[in-house]
Amino acid sequence: MLKRRLSYALRMLKGFSQKKTCPFCHNTSFERIDQKYKITSLLKCSECHLNHRHPKETQEWLDDFYQKTYQIDTQMMTDLPSDR
Ligand SMILES: [Zn+2]
Repeated sequence: MLKRRLSYALRMLKGFSQKKTCPFCHNTSFERIDQKYKITSLLKCSECHLNHRHPKETQEWLDDFYQKTYQIDTQMMTDLPSDR
């Protein structure tokens, strides 16, 4: 669990140098709503009021995450008792 958190923190540190821009309107002024592990922030765009996180997750990480989630779902489905 700790190892998992550490890798999360490291990943966020890598992304920390990302420029803060709104993914929707590319505005650069935000209101900070929340902060996690002192690294990731939940920001609200002052222009379009879209909530988003900084740094953004990379596409690579998202693909990996969804693939793992999908695998877990498959496992759960095969574990369901059959009534036949
Ligand atoms: Zn915006």
